[in-house]
This record gives sequence, C-alpha cells and structure tokens, in this order.
Amino acid sequence: MSTIDFDFNFDARCDFHSHTTCSDGRLKPTELIDRAVNFQIGALAITDHDTTAALDSAFRYIQEQKLNITLINGIEISTLWQNFEIHVVGLNIDPKNESLKALVDKQQDARDSRASQMSEKLAKCGFTDMLSKAQALAGDGSITRAHFARVLYEQGDVSAMQSAFDKYIGKGKRAFVKPLWCDVAEAVTTIHKAGGTAVLAHPMRYDMTAKWLRRLIIDFKDAGGDAMEIVLPQMNPQQRRLMVSYCLEYDLYASLGSDFHYPSKWSDLGRNLTLPEDVKPVWQLWQ
Ligand code: AMP
Ligand code: MN
Ligand code: MN
Ligand code: MN
Repeated sequence: MSTIDFDFNFDARCDFHSHTTCSDGRLKPTELIDRAVNFQIGALAITDHDTTAALDSAFRYIQEQKLNITLINGIEISTLWQNFEIHVVGLNIDPKNESLKALVDKQQDARDSRASQMSEKLAKCGFTDMLSKAQALAGDGSITRAHFARVLYEQGDVSAMQSAFDKYIGKGKRAFVKPLWCDVAEAVTTIHKAGGTAVLAHPMRYDMTAKWLRRLIIDFKDAGGDAMEIVLPQMNPQQRRLMVSYCLEYDLYASLGSDFHYPSKWSDLGRNLTLPEDVKPVWQLWQ
C-alpha cells in the first residue's frame, strides 16, 4: 500500500522527518497534519520512533477532510552500531508488512524493558515512580527517553530537558541503560521488505569524528542503505557542505526533514528545507 500519488510534484515543500504523540512528538497525528497544511507543506513523512501507529489516522484524516497534502508513510528505527545509537528512517513503507510489524514489536519490547531498568536506576538517583510518570506522559505512544527527560524537567529536577540527558539518561550517565536495538543491516533489510527506502537519519548529530562517520556511511551503504539526510534545520554551512560531499561521494540519494517534535523557536515543519541542485533527491526513487 503506497499513499504516494505518483503525479505529485515534489517541487512543493517537503518534510520527510517528523514525530507525533505516537512517540515523543507533542502533536496528535491530526494536529500535525493541520500544522503541515498551514505551513503549505506538499509532502510530509511521519517518522515516529519504532512505530507506525500514527499513519492510519493521519491518512484517514487527510482523506476525510480532502486536504491538499501527500502523506509519506515513515518510521524512524533505532539501531545500535559500534556502540553508537544510529537512527534509520524508512520512507514510503507499507506499515502492514509482516516483517516490519515483527521488528516494531521487538523494538517496542526493547523500549519497555529499557524503560523499567532506567526507572530503577533513576530511583537510585532519588527520583521515584519514574516509570509510571513517563508512561502517563507517553499514553498509548511508544515510551522514549524524551518522556523521562520531560518528567524530570516538569518536576523541576533539571533546568532543561537536555540537562536530563547530560546528567542522568544520556550515554554513560548514571541512569543510562544500553538499549537492545536491532543493527543497521536489520533495519535496512526490513525497510526494504516493507517496500520502503532506507535513509540514514541526521548523520551530523552522532557526535563522532569524520573517520567514524565515514565508516558508518560505508557500513550503511554496504547494508543496502539508499539515502541520507543532508538538510535539517540548525546546520551550519560547513556541516551542510560536508553532508553534501559525503552524499555525492558515497552515491546516496538525499533526503531532508525537520525532525519536528513540537513547535519551538528553533525549528518547525518544513522551515529552511531545500535540497541543493547537485544531489539526487530521494523522491526520484518513487517516481
Ligand atoms: P530514545 O529513542 O528513547 O532513546 O529517545 C531519544 C529521544 O530523546 C530523541 O529522539 C530526541 O527526541 C530526544 N533527545 C533530546 N535530547 C537528546 C540527547 N541529548 N540525546 C539523545 N536524545 C535526545
Ligand atoms: Mn525523538
Ligand atoms: Mn533521530
Ligand atoms: Mn526523529
């Protein structure tokens, strides 16, 4: 099942990375669609962490309201690579594919068990009842560290959500629990089985040296990866040039997205997103 209208003109504004309340986003799928329409986005991918739960209601809403927007079925799969947490976005996937559903179930189990362990470690840091508080925030959505960070922030225990990562739940900190994510190859293969395009998410954000980043891109490409995100908000011109050069050098298609979680001063849907002329846009794979 593809939601893409193949006559769609991708010269319109596109945003291929966004979150809803089905993971750690703050807008419901329908609210996200309304915001995207207001921002005159022609094609939006919803890419929640390890879940496709938002896609059905978003698609139905677009149809019922006869909205002028193309939804791209997406997911952002968490993986472990060389002890780094690497995100692989799947675009234009079939959410009903059995292999994808099995991977989603496995990843959600890994999320749940990490959440309980994290809660126990946070209790040792003096923060009680964190699992139920984080679950209350997550509701039916998949539980993430962002929910734990938000609880600590809203209780006044940290001065910003980022501090919760820096002090407690970030890699190597006191309440960090190593997650049992799948590997990069499994994410790529499963996305392909579901008919989708595998995209290396936000490569500039992994806090790794250029040497490691090249290794990651090579492994991703060897696993069959199709594309990488090269345009996100809050990138400086130097980072942008570097990502374009890797994209060309490793012959990957190029994707773009805001990684929208909630409205803020710093980033919003579709803001400042355009691909440079010399790369191959990821939508060429769908036409
Ligand atoms: P999880 O996938 O459960 O590990 O949750 C990670 C989510 O927390 C990311 O997708 C971000 O939305 C959010 N986040 C915010 N700051 C950080 C940070 N410093 N490190 C990792 N994740 C962060
Ligand atoms: Mn997130
Ligand atoms: Mn991510
Ligand atoms: Mn994301």
